[in-house]
Amino acid sequence: MPGQNYSLWSLFKHGLNHHKTWEPAWTRASLKPSYDVVIVGGGGHGLATAYYLAKNHKVGRIAVLEKGYLGGGNTARNTTIVRSNYLWDEAALLYEHGMKLWEGLSEDLNFNVMFSQRGVFNLGHTLQDMRDIERRVAANHLQGVDAHVLTAAEVKEKIPQLDTGRSRRLPVLGASWQPRAGIAHHDAVARGFARAASRLGVDLIENCEVLGFDIEGGRVKGLQTSQGPVKADRVGCVAAGHSSVLAAMAGVRLPLESHPLQAFVSESMQRVIDTVIMSNAVHGYLSQSDKGELVIGAGIDSYLGYGQRGSPHVIDHTAAAILELFPQFSRVRMNRQWGGIVDVSPDACPIISKTPVQGLFFNCGWGTGGFKATPGSGHVFAHTIAHDAPHPLAAPFALDRFSNGHLIDEHGAAAVAH
Ligand SMILES: Cc1cc2nc3c(=O)[nH]c(=O)nc-3n(C[C@H](O)[C@H](O)[C@H](O)COP(=O)(O)OP(=O)(O)OC[C@H]3O[C@@H](n4cnc5c(N)ncnc54)[C@H](O)[C@@H]3O)c2cc1C
Repeated sequence: MPGQNYSLWSLFKHGLNHHKTWEPAWTRASLKPSYDVVIVGGGGHGLATAYYLAKNHKVGRIAVLEKGYLGGGNTARNTTIVRSNYLWDEAALLYEHGMKLWEGLSEDLNFNVMFSQRGVFNLGHTLQDMRDIERRVAANHLQGVDAHVLTAAEVKEKIPQLDTGRSRRLPVLGASWQPRAGIAHHDAVARGFARAASRLGVDLIENCEVLGFDIEGGRVKGLQTSQGPVKADRVGCVAAGHSSVLAAMAGVRLPLESHPLQAFVSESMQRVIDTVIMSNAVHGYLSQSDKGELVIGAGIDSYLGYGQRGSPHVIDHTAAAILELFPQFSRVRMNRQWGGIVDVSPDACPIISKTPVQGLFFNCGWGTGGFKATPGSGHVFAHTIAHDAPHPLAAPFALDRFSNGHLIDEHGAAAVAH
Protein backbone atom coordinates (compact mmCIF):
# COMPACT_ATOMS: atom_id res chain seq x y z
CA MET A 1 0.00 0.00 0.00
CA PRO A 2 1.38 3.44 -0.86
CA GLY A 3 3.12 5.31 1.90
CA GLN A 4 3.52 2.21 4.10
CA ASN A 5 6.89 0.76 4.83
CA TYR A 6 6.63 -3.02 5.09
CA SER A 7 9.41 -4.65 7.08
CA LEU A 8 9.61 -8.44 7.16
CA TRP A 9 8.18 -8.28 10.69
CA SER A 10 5.12 -6.26 9.62
CA LEU A 11 4.48 -8.66 6.72
CA PHE A 12 4.71 -11.55 9.20
CA LYS A 13 2.20 -9.76 11.48
CA HIS A 14 -0.16 -9.27 8.52
CA GLY A 15 0.14 -13.00 7.83
CA LEU A 16 -0.86 -13.81 11.43
CA ASN A 17 -3.78 -11.38 11.13
CA HIS A 18 -5.04 -13.39 8.15
CA HIS A 19 -4.85 -10.17 6.10
CA LYS A 20 -7.59 -8.64 8.29
CA THR A 21 -6.03 -5.20 8.05
CA TRP A 22 -5.60 -5.32 4.27
CA GLU A 23 -7.76 -2.99 2.27
CA PRO A 24 -10.10 -4.97 -0.06
CA ALA A 25 -9.20 -4.53 -3.73
CA TRP A 26 -12.78 -3.61 -4.61
CA THR A 27 -16.00 -2.79 -2.81
CA ARG A 28 -18.74 -5.42 -2.74
CA ALA A 29 -21.77 -3.30 -3.62
CA SER A 30 -25.48 -4.02 -3.15
CA LEU A 31 -27.94 -3.73 -6.00
CA LYS A 32 -29.51 -0.26 -6.32
CA PRO A 33 -32.99 0.27 -7.82
CA SER A 34 -31.71 1.80 -11.08
CA TYR A 35 -28.61 2.43 -13.21
CA ASP A 36 -27.59 4.27 -16.38
CA VAL A 37 -25.86 1.12 -17.67
CA VAL A 38 -26.00 -2.45 -16.41
CA ILE A 39 -23.36 -4.89 -17.65
CA VAL A 40 -24.35 -8.56 -17.42
CA GLY A 41 -21.34 -10.80 -16.83
CA GLY A 42 -18.41 -10.08 -14.53
CA GLY A 43 -15.68 -11.72 -16.60
CA GLY A 44 -12.72 -9.79 -17.96
CA HIS A 45 -14.73 -8.35 -20.86
CA GLY A 46 -17.62 -7.17 -18.66
CA LEU A 47 -15.30 -5.61 -16.10
CA ALA A 48 -13.23 -3.93 -18.83
CA THR A 49 -16.42 -2.56 -20.41
CA ALA A 50 -17.53 -1.08 -17.09
CA TYR A 51 -14.08 0.40 -16.49
CA TYR A 52 -13.90 2.15 -19.88
CA LEU A 53 -17.54 3.32 -19.60
CA ALA A 54 -16.66 5.06 -16.34
CA LYS A 55 -13.20 6.25 -17.33
CA ASN A 56 -13.56 7.25 -21.00
CA HIS A 57 -17.26 8.04 -21.27
CA LYS A 58 -17.95 9.38 -17.77
CA VAL A 59 -21.09 7.28 -17.41
CA GLY A 60 -22.15 7.83 -13.80
CA ARG A 61 -24.23 4.91 -12.52
CA ILE A 62 -22.90 1.57 -13.71
CA ALA A 63 -23.39 -1.93 -12.30
CA VAL A 64 -21.78 -5.23 -13.25
CA LEU A 65 -24.05 -8.18 -12.40
CA GLU A 66 -22.28 -11.53 -12.09
CA LYS A 67 -24.11 -14.75 -11.33
CA GLY A 68 -21.07 -16.35 -9.68
CA TYR A 69 -17.87 -14.61 -8.62
CA LEU A 70 -15.96 -12.00 -10.62
CA GLY A 71 -13.63 -13.50 -13.20
CA GLY A 72 -14.76 -17.07 -12.42
CA GLY A 73 -16.00 -17.98 -15.92
CA ASN A 74 -13.81 -18.39 -18.98
CA THR A 75 -11.58 -15.63 -17.71
CA ALA A 76 -10.42 -17.99 -14.95
CA ARG A 77 -10.23 -20.99 -17.27
CA ASN A 78 -8.30 -19.89 -20.31
CA THR A 79 -4.68 -20.42 -21.29
CA THR A 80 -4.04 -16.67 -21.60
CA ILE A 81 -2.49 -16.47 -25.07
CA VAL A 82 -2.44 -12.89 -26.36
CA ARG A 83 -1.67 -12.22 -30.02
CA SER A 84 -2.99 -10.07 -32.85
CA ASN A 85 -1.75 -11.86 -35.98
CA TYR A 86 -5.17 -12.55 -37.51
CA LEU A 87 -5.64 -12.83 -41.26
CA TRP A 88 -8.41 -10.40 -42.19
CA ASP A 89 -8.03 -6.64 -41.76
CA GLU A 90 -11.12 -6.25 -39.57
CA ALA A 91 -9.96 -8.92 -37.12
CA ALA A 92 -6.26 -7.97 -37.11
CA LEU A 93 -7.12 -4.29 -36.47
CA LEU A 94 -9.45 -5.18 -33.60
CA TYR A 95 -6.95 -7.52 -31.91
CA GLU A 96 -4.05 -5.13 -32.55
CA HIS A 97 -6.09 -2.39 -30.84
CA GLY A 98 -6.26 -4.78 -27.87
CA MET A 99 -2.53 -5.50 -28.09
CA LYS A 100 -1.70 -1.79 -27.83
CA LEU A 101 -3.92 -1.52 -24.75
CA TRP A 102 -2.22 -4.61 -23.23
CA GLU A 103 1.13 -2.88 -23.66
CA GLY A 104 0.09 -0.07 -21.30
CA LEU A 105 -2.48 -1.93 -19.20
CA SER A 106 -0.54 -2.50 -15.95
CA GLU A 107 0.29 1.19 -15.86
CA ASP A 108 -3.23 2.28 -16.77
CA LEU A 109 -4.84 0.07 -14.08
CA ASN A 110 -1.98 0.62 -11.62
CA PHE A 111 -2.09 -3.17 -11.21
CA ASN A 112 0.39 -5.70 -12.53
CA VAL A 113 -1.50 -7.89 -15.04
CA MET A 114 1.75 -9.79 -15.70
CA PHE A 115 1.63 -9.24 -19.44
CA SER A 116 4.68 -11.08 -20.76
CA GLN A 117 5.57 -10.48 -24.42
CA ARG A 118 7.45 -13.74 -24.88
CA GLY A 119 6.35 -14.26 -28.48
CA VAL A 120 4.01 -16.75 -30.13
CA PHE A 121 5.03 -19.31 -32.78
CA ASN A 122 2.42 -20.83 -35.13
CA LEU A 123 4.13 -23.90 -36.57
CA GLY A 124 3.77 -24.99 -40.18
CA HIS A 125 3.92 -28.73 -40.93
CA THR A 126 2.81 -28.95 -44.55
CA LEU A 127 3.47 -26.95 -47.71
CA GLN A 128 -0.07 -25.61 -47.47
CA ASP A 129 0.55 -24.53 -43.85
CA MET A 130 3.63 -22.60 -45.02
CA ARG A 131 1.72 -20.94 -47.87
CA ASP A 132 -0.99 -19.89 -45.39
CA ILE A 133 1.67 -18.59 -42.99
CA GLU A 134 3.33 -16.53 -45.73
CA ARG A 135 -0.01 -15.09 -46.79
CA ARG A 136 -0.97 -14.19 -43.21
CA VAL A 137 2.42 -12.65 -42.38
CA ALA A 138 2.24 -10.54 -45.56
CA ALA A 139 -1.26 -9.40 -44.54
CA ASN A 140 0.01 -8.63 -41.03
CA HIS A 141 2.77 -6.40 -42.45
CA LEU A 142 0.17 -4.38 -44.36
CA GLN A 143 -1.94 -4.13 -41.17
CA GLY A 144 1.01 -2.88 -39.07
CA VAL A 145 1.12 -6.09 -37.02
CA ASP A 146 4.59 -7.48 -36.21
CA ALA A 147 5.04 -10.88 -37.84
CA HIS A 148 7.84 -12.97 -39.32
CA VAL A 149 8.13 -16.15 -41.38
CA LEU A 150 10.79 -18.45 -39.94
CA THR A 151 12.44 -21.50 -41.48
CA ALA A 152 12.64 -24.79 -39.57
CA ALA A 153 16.29 -24.04 -38.72
CA GLU A 154 15.38 -20.60 -37.35
CA VAL A 155 12.57 -22.14 -35.28
CA LYS A 156 14.99 -24.74 -33.88
CA GLU A 157 17.44 -22.01 -32.95
CA LYS A 158 14.75 -20.17 -30.95
CA ILE A 159 13.14 -23.32 -29.44
CA PRO A 160 15.94 -25.88 -29.10
CA GLN A 161 13.65 -28.33 -27.24
CA LEU A 162 11.28 -28.63 -30.21
CA ASP A 163 11.67 -31.79 -32.29
CA THR A 164 12.18 -30.51 -35.83
CA GLY A 165 13.44 -33.85 -37.16
CA ARG A 166 12.40 -34.58 -40.78
CA SER A 167 11.38 -38.14 -39.86
CA ARG A 168 8.44 -37.02 -37.71
CA ARG A 169 4.90 -37.82 -38.85
CA LEU A 170 4.35 -34.10 -39.38
CA PRO A 171 7.81 -32.47 -39.58
CA VAL A 172 8.15 -28.77 -38.70
CA LEU A 173 8.77 -26.88 -41.95
CA GLY A 174 8.76 -23.41 -40.41
CA ALA A 175 6.57 -21.03 -38.45
CA SER A 176 5.07 -17.60 -38.16
CA TRP A 177 6.37 -15.66 -35.19
CA GLN A 178 4.85 -12.64 -33.49
CA PRO A 179 7.42 -11.31 -31.00
CA ARG A 180 5.01 -8.85 -29.29
CA ALA A 181 2.53 -11.62 -28.52
CA GLY A 182 2.63 -13.60 -25.27
CA ILE A 183 0.61 -14.31 -22.16
CA ALA A 184 -0.88 -12.41 -19.21
CA HIS A 185 -2.22 -13.52 -15.84
CA HIS A 186 -5.96 -14.21 -16.10
CA ASP A 187 -6.82 -13.52 -12.43
CA ALA A 188 -4.70 -10.39 -12.36
CA VAL A 189 -6.53 -9.06 -15.43
CA ALA A 190 -9.96 -9.59 -13.82
CA ARG A 191 -8.82 -8.20 -10.48
CA GLY A 192 -7.05 -5.23 -12.05
CA PHE A 193 -10.15 -4.19 -14.02
CA ALA A 194 -12.42 -4.88 -11.01
CA ARG A 195 -10.30 -2.74 -8.71
CA ALA A 196 -10.00 0.11 -11.19
CA ALA A 197 -13.73 0.04 -12.04
CA SER A 198 -14.70 -0.06 -8.36
CA ARG A 199 -12.49 2.95 -7.67
CA LEU A 200 -14.37 4.84 -10.38
CA GLY A 201 -17.66 4.10 -8.60
CA VAL A 202 -18.87 1.05 -10.55
CA ASP A 203 -21.07 -1.28 -8.45
CA LEU A 204 -19.70 -4.84 -8.71
CA ILE A 205 -22.40 -7.29 -7.65
CA GLU A 206 -21.63 -10.99 -7.32
CA ASN A 207 -24.09 -13.88 -6.89
CA CYS A 208 -26.61 -11.91 -8.94
CA GLU A 209 -28.00 -13.91 -11.84
CA VAL A 210 -29.96 -12.16 -14.57
CA LEU A 211 -33.21 -14.08 -15.09
CA GLY A 212 -35.02 -11.87 -17.61
CA PHE A 213 -35.34 -8.48 -19.26
CA ASP A 214 -38.12 -5.90 -18.93
CA ILE A 215 -38.82 -4.69 -22.44
CA GLU A 216 -41.51 -2.11 -23.28
CA GLY A 217 -42.25 -0.74 -26.74
CA GLY A 218 -39.13 -2.41 -28.17
CA ARG A 219 -36.86 -0.77 -25.59
CA VAL A 220 -35.11 -2.34 -22.60
CA LYS A 221 -36.27 -0.83 -19.31
CA GLY A 222 -34.67 -3.10 -16.75
CA LEU A 223 -33.80 -6.62 -15.67
CA GLN A 224 -35.10 -9.33 -13.38
CA THR A 225 -32.34 -10.79 -11.24
CA SER A 226 -31.92 -13.30 -8.44
CA GLN A 227 -31.52 -10.26 -6.14
CA GLY A 228 -34.69 -8.55 -7.41
CA PRO A 229 -35.63 -6.19 -10.25
CA VAL A 230 -33.43 -3.34 -11.41
CA LYS A 231 -34.10 -0.51 -13.86
CA ALA A 232 -31.54 0.34 -16.54
CA ASP A 233 -31.37 2.79 -19.45
CA ARG A 234 -28.92 0.54 -21.30
CA VAL A 235 -27.82 -3.06 -20.86
CA GLY A 236 -24.64 -4.64 -22.20
CA CYS A 237 -24.45 -8.45 -22.12
CA VAL A 238 -20.97 -10.00 -22.00
CA ALA A 239 -21.72 -13.51 -20.83
CA ALA A 240 -19.46 -15.67 -23.03
CA GLY A 241 -20.79 -19.29 -22.97
CA HIS A 242 -24.31 -18.19 -21.93
CA SER A 243 -24.86 -15.38 -24.45
CA SER A 244 -27.55 -17.22 -26.43
CA VAL A 245 -29.39 -18.12 -23.20
CA LEU A 246 -29.51 -14.44 -22.24
CA ALA A 247 -30.39 -13.31 -25.75
CA ALA A 248 -33.32 -15.74 -25.82
CA MET A 249 -34.69 -14.06 -22.66
CA ALA A 250 -34.94 -10.86 -24.73
CA GLY A 251 -36.38 -12.63 -27.76
CA VAL A 252 -33.14 -12.21 -29.74
CA ARG A 253 -31.64 -15.16 -31.63
CA LEU A 254 -27.83 -15.24 -31.84
CA PRO A 255 -25.96 -17.42 -34.37
CA LEU A 256 -23.82 -19.06 -31.68
CA GLU A 257 -22.96 -22.59 -30.61
CA SER A 258 -21.77 -23.26 -27.05
CA HIS A 259 -19.03 -25.88 -26.77
CA PRO A 260 -16.82 -27.12 -23.96
CA LEU A 261 -13.14 -26.20 -24.31
CA GLN A 262 -10.54 -27.89 -22.12
CA ALA A 263 -7.02 -27.21 -20.94
CA PHE A 264 -4.61 -28.83 -18.51
CA VAL A 265 -1.35 -28.14 -16.70
CA SER A 266 1.60 -30.29 -15.69
CA GLU A 267 3.40 -30.42 -12.39
CA SER A 268 5.71 -27.43 -11.82
CA MET A 269 9.18 -27.79 -13.20
CA GLN A 270 12.25 -25.78 -14.05
CA ARG A 271 11.80 -23.20 -16.81
CA VAL A 272 12.31 -24.96 -20.16
CA ILE A 273 9.95 -23.08 -22.48
CA ASP A 274 10.13 -19.29 -22.64
CA THR A 275 7.62 -18.68 -25.42
CA VAL A 276 4.22 -19.88 -26.71
CA ILE A 277 4.09 -22.64 -29.34
CA MET A 278 0.94 -23.46 -31.31
CA SER A 279 0.40 -26.07 -33.98
CA ASN A 280 -2.78 -26.48 -35.96
CA ALA A 281 -1.72 -29.63 -37.82
CA VAL A 282 -0.80 -31.75 -34.80
CA HIS A 283 -3.44 -29.73 -32.90
CA GLY A 284 -2.04 -28.58 -29.63
CA TYR A 285 -0.35 -25.62 -28.02
CA LEU A 286 1.82 -25.03 -25.01
CA SER A 287 3.48 -22.40 -22.85
CA GLN A 288 5.01 -22.49 -19.39
CA SER A 289 3.53 -20.52 -16.51
CA ASP A 290 5.53 -18.48 -14.02
CA LYS A 291 4.90 -21.32 -11.54
CA GLY A 292 6.68 -23.68 -13.95
CA GLU A 293 3.61 -25.64 -15.12
CA LEU A 294 3.31 -26.55 -18.77
CA VAL A 295 0.00 -25.01 -19.85
CA ILE A 296 -1.55 -27.12 -22.62
CA GLY A 297 -4.66 -26.89 -24.75
CA ALA A 298 -6.10 -27.60 -28.19
CA GLY A 299 -9.54 -27.39 -29.79
CA ILE A 300 -13.14 -27.53 -28.63
CA ASP A 301 -15.06 -30.69 -27.78
CA SER A 302 -17.25 -31.11 -30.83
CA TYR A 303 -20.58 -31.58 -29.01
CA LEU A 304 -22.71 -28.71 -27.72
CA GLY A 305 -23.21 -28.32 -23.99
CA TYR A 306 -22.99 -26.21 -20.87
CA GLY A 307 -21.05 -28.67 -18.69
CA GLN A 308 -17.66 -27.18 -17.91
CA ARG A 309 -15.86 -30.52 -18.23
CA GLY A 310 -15.21 -32.00 -21.66
CA SER A 311 -14.38 -35.56 -22.70
CA PRO A 312 -11.21 -37.54 -21.86
CA HIS A 313 -10.38 -38.43 -25.48
CA VAL A 314 -9.72 -34.74 -26.22
CA ILE A 315 -7.12 -34.64 -23.45
CA ASP A 316 -5.61 -37.83 -24.83
CA HIS A 317 -5.40 -36.40 -28.35
CA THR A 318 -3.93 -33.12 -27.11
CA ALA A 319 -1.27 -34.83 -24.98
CA ALA A 320 -0.31 -36.97 -27.99
CA ALA A 321 0.04 -33.83 -30.12
CA ILE A 322 2.32 -32.18 -27.57
CA LEU A 323 4.48 -35.31 -27.41
CA GLU A 324 4.92 -35.23 -31.17
CA LEU A 325 6.43 -31.78 -30.76
CA PHE A 326 8.27 -32.44 -27.48
CA PRO A 327 8.90 -36.20 -27.00
CA GLN A 328 11.03 -35.41 -23.93
CA PHE A 329 7.87 -34.42 -21.99
CA SER A 330 6.56 -37.99 -22.07
CA ARG A 331 7.44 -38.52 -18.40
CA VAL A 332 6.08 -35.19 -17.13
CA ARG A 333 3.04 -35.74 -14.92
CA MET A 334 -0.12 -33.81 -15.59
CA ASN A 335 -1.53 -32.06 -12.56
CA ARG A 336 -5.07 -30.88 -13.30
CA GLN A 337 -7.56 -30.41 -16.11
CA TRP A 338 -10.58 -28.15 -16.48
CA GLY A 339 -13.07 -26.90 -19.03
CA GLY A 340 -14.96 -23.75 -19.91
CA ILE A 341 -17.84 -23.01 -22.29
CA VAL A 342 -17.03 -21.01 -25.38
CA ASP A 343 -19.58 -19.42 -27.73
CA VAL A 344 -18.53 -19.99 -31.31
CA SER A 345 -19.91 -17.94 -34.21
CA PRO A 346 -20.12 -19.19 -37.83
CA ASP A 347 -17.11 -17.10 -38.94
CA ALA A 348 -15.07 -17.52 -35.70
CA CYS A 349 -15.30 -13.78 -35.07
CA PRO A 350 -17.00 -11.93 -32.24
CA ILE A 351 -20.35 -10.17 -32.27
CA ILE A 352 -20.14 -6.63 -30.85
CA SER A 353 -23.49 -5.18 -31.61
CA LYS A 354 -26.70 -3.33 -30.99
CA THR A 355 -29.74 -5.61 -31.13
CA PRO A 356 -33.31 -5.21 -32.38
CA VAL A 357 -34.19 -4.25 -28.77
CA GLN A 358 -33.26 -0.60 -28.23
CA GLY A 359 -30.74 -0.06 -25.45
CA LEU A 360 -29.74 -3.75 -25.41
CA PHE A 361 -26.22 -4.61 -26.63
CA PHE A 362 -24.34 -7.89 -26.96
CA ASN A 363 -20.62 -8.61 -26.94
CA CYS A 364 -20.07 -12.35 -27.47
CA GLY A 365 -18.94 -15.05 -29.86
CA TRP A 366 -15.23 -14.71 -29.03
CA GLY A 367 -15.09 -18.49 -29.09
CA THR A 368 -11.74 -19.95 -28.14
CA GLY A 369 -9.83 -16.69 -28.42
CA GLY A 370 -11.39 -13.86 -26.43
CA PHE A 371 -8.96 -13.48 -23.55
CA LYS A 372 -6.48 -11.69 -25.78
CA ALA A 373 -9.19 -9.18 -26.64
CA THR A 374 -10.16 -8.34 -23.03
CA PRO A 375 -9.02 -4.69 -22.98
CA GLY A 376 -9.77 -4.07 -26.67
CA SER A 377 -13.21 -5.66 -26.43
CA GLY A 378 -14.12 -3.65 -23.32
CA HIS A 379 -12.82 -0.47 -24.92
CA VAL A 380 -14.84 -0.70 -28.15
CA PHE A 381 -17.94 -2.11 -26.43
CA ALA A 382 -17.98 0.77 -23.91
CA HIS A 383 -17.82 3.21 -26.84
CA THR A 384 -20.65 1.34 -28.63
CA ILE A 385 -22.90 1.45 -25.54
CA ALA A 386 -22.06 5.06 -24.64
CA HIS A 387 -22.67 6.39 -28.18
CA ASP A 388 -25.49 3.99 -29.06
CA ALA A 389 -23.48 3.47 -32.24
CA PRO A 390 -20.62 1.09 -33.04
CA HIS A 391 -17.00 2.03 -32.44
CA PRO A 392 -15.38 2.12 -35.93
CA LEU A 393 -13.32 -1.01 -35.10
CA ALA A 394 -16.44 -2.82 -33.86
CA ALA A 395 -18.69 -1.86 -36.79
CA PRO A 396 -17.73 -4.87 -38.99
CA PHE A 397 -18.64 -7.20 -36.10
CA ALA A 398 -22.33 -6.24 -35.93
CA LEU A 399 -25.07 -8.87 -35.95
CA ASP A 400 -26.28 -7.86 -39.41
CA ARG A 401 -23.23 -9.49 -41.04
CA PHE A 402 -25.03 -12.82 -40.72
CA SER A 403 -27.89 -11.53 -42.86
CA ASN A 404 -25.96 -9.34 -45.33
CA GLY A 405 -23.19 -11.89 -45.88
CA HIS A 406 -20.22 -9.71 -44.83
CA LEU A 407 -18.60 -12.50 -42.83
CA ILE A 408 -14.98 -12.24 -41.64
CA ASP A 409 -13.87 -15.84 -41.93
CA GLU A 410 -11.09 -16.42 -39.41
CA HIS A 411 -11.80 -20.16 -39.05
CA GLY A 412 -8.37 -21.75 -38.84
CA ALA A 413 -6.86 -18.75 -40.64
CA ALA A 414 -4.29 -18.24 -37.91
CA ALA A 415 -3.46 -21.79 -36.82
CA VAL A 416 -5.02 -23.09 -33.58
CA ALA A 417 -7.70 -20.53 -32.90
CA HIS A 418 -6.76 -19.21 -29.43
C1 LIG B 1 -9.81 -23.83 -21.81
C2 LIG B 1 -9.88 -22.49 -22.46
C3 LIG B 1 -8.73 -21.95 -23.03
C4 LIG B 1 -8.76 -20.71 -23.64
N1 LIG B 1 -7.59 -20.17 -24.09
C5 LIG B 1 -7.57 -18.92 -24.59
C6 LIG B 1 -6.34 -18.32 -24.95
O1 LIG B 1 -5.26 -18.90 -24.79
N2 LIG B 1 -6.37 -17.06 -25.46
C7 LIG B 1 -7.53 -16.39 -25.65
O2 LIG B 1 -7.49 -15.27 -26.17
N3 LIG B 1 -8.73 -16.92 -25.27
C8 LIG B 1 -8.78 -18.16 -24.75
N4 LIG B 1 -9.97 -18.72 -24.34
C9 LIG B 1 -11.23 -17.97 -24.57
C10 LIG B 1 -11.45 -16.94 -23.47
O3 LIG B 1 -11.35 -17.54 -22.20
C11 LIG B 1 -12.81 -16.26 -23.60
O4 LIG B 1 -13.05 -15.86 -24.93
C12 LIG B 1 -12.87 -15.02 -22.72
O5 LIG B 1 -12.37 -15.29 -21.43
C13 LIG B 1 -14.27 -14.53 -22.61
O6 LIG B 1 -14.28 -13.53 -21.62
P1 LIG B 1 -15.60 -13.02 -21.00
O7 LIG B 1 -15.29 -12.01 -19.97
O8 LIG B 1 -16.53 -12.63 -22.10
O9 LIG B 1 -16.24 -14.36 -20.40
P2 LIG B 1 -16.33 -14.98 -18.96
O10 LIG B 1 -15.08 -14.83 -18.18
O11 LIG B 1 -16.88 -16.35 -19.13
O12 LIG B 1 -17.41 -14.03 -18.29
C14 LIG B 1 -18.80 -14.15 -18.54
C15 LIG B 1 -19.48 -14.10 -17.18
O13 LIG B 1 -20.89 -14.03 -17.39
C16 LIG B 1 -21.48 -14.64 -16.29
N5 LIG B 1 -22.89 -14.93 -16.60
C17 LIG B 1 -23.38 -15.82 -17.50
N6 LIG B 1 -24.72 -15.79 -17.48
C18 LIG B 1 -25.09 -14.86 -16.57
C19 LIG B 1 -26.34 -14.39 -16.07
N7 LIG B 1 -27.52 -14.88 -16.55
N8 LIG B 1 -26.36 -13.43 -15.12
C20 LIG B 1 -25.20 -12.91 -14.63
N9 LIG B 1 -23.97 -13.33 -15.05
C21 LIG B 1 -23.93 -14.31 -16.00
C22 LIG B 1 -20.64 -15.88 -16.07
O14 LIG B 1 -20.79 -16.40 -14.76
C23 LIG B 1 -19.23 -15.35 -16.35
O15 LIG B 1 -18.52 -15.01 -15.18
C24 LIG B 1 -9.98 -19.98 -23.72
C25 LIG B 1 -11.15 -20.50 -23.16
C26 LIG B 1 -11.10 -21.74 -22.51
C27 LIG B 1 -12.35 -22.29 -21.89
